[in-house]
Amino acid sequence: MTYTLNAPQRTEMDHTTADPDIALRIRSLCKSFGDHEVLRSVDLDLGAGEFLTLLGPSGSGKTTLLRILAGFDTPDSGRILLRGRDISHLSPAERDLGMVFQQYALFPHLTVADNVAYGLRMRGWKPARRTRRVAEMLELVGLPDKARSKPQQLSGGQQQRVALARALAYEPQLLLMDEPLGALDRSLRLQMQEEIRRVHREVGTTIIFVTHDQEEALALSDRVAIMHEGGLAGLAPPSQLYQNPPSTFVARFFSNAN
Ligand code: ADP
Repeated sequence: MTYTLNAPQRTEMDHTTADPDIALRIRSLCKSFGDHEVLRSVDLDLGAGEFLTLLGPSGSGKTTLLRILAGFDTPDSGRILLRGRDISHLSPAERDLGMVFQQYALFPHLTVADNVAYGLRMRGWKPARRTRRVAEMLELVGLPDKARSKPQQLSGGQQQRVALARALAYEPQLLLMDEPLGALDRSLRLQMQEEIRRVHREVGTTIIFVTHDQEEALALSDRVAIMHEGGLAGLAPPSQLYQNPPSTFVARFFSNAN
């Protein structure tokens, strides 16, 4: 099925696409900056609970796609349906998403605990339940003793772990992560990969993950999408893409990184 809807859509259920097995449906998503076409009609369906990693050379449009899904940028045309609901024109706060972005920094005036509690408070969680959840999340990311610290008292890596705890705390329908482990050293990175995998397994969150690290993509993902010049050059389970690349571009992309 294809869509050619360019006009802003009202937020509503689209019953033709409200398939319970599809968490996210992206159709004909286009974005240009000036005359530079950064996304060229991207179509993508994500299964409920699926872990998808976006890989691709720098400048291929990964971050732009994620920013548009998050609501930080507006597409020129196309649709984004989250469980059948068109979210294309909602603000970031109105989308039921968790985000771990470099640009989506922690609130500097709030303590670590209050940062993690922020989304829970917005969703009306009662204080006792919030406190329990915050403690659980800080334990999960290995920072139980930093609850009262302010973000500027933490290292970059620790701030990223708090951002991860904040994003996961309310078990969002869709979690978007742009290089969430980029600032961590290797052992912490492996530990956090394991935590993300565990949370994904236990909570069943649908995840889109952007990384430059192919090993990480292979370790974490159900499927990998390779972006190339604003389009998808390959979309398949990682081992399949790796062993049986659909194009010379994908084959070269994998071999260049090794
Ligand atoms: P990736 O995440 O794959 O490295 P990006 O989505 O960050 O790619 O960028 C894709 C292209 O869009 C790049 O050429 C980048 O320079 C350009 N771009 C991204 N954001 C903007 C912007 N706000 N204004 C102009 N060009 C942009």
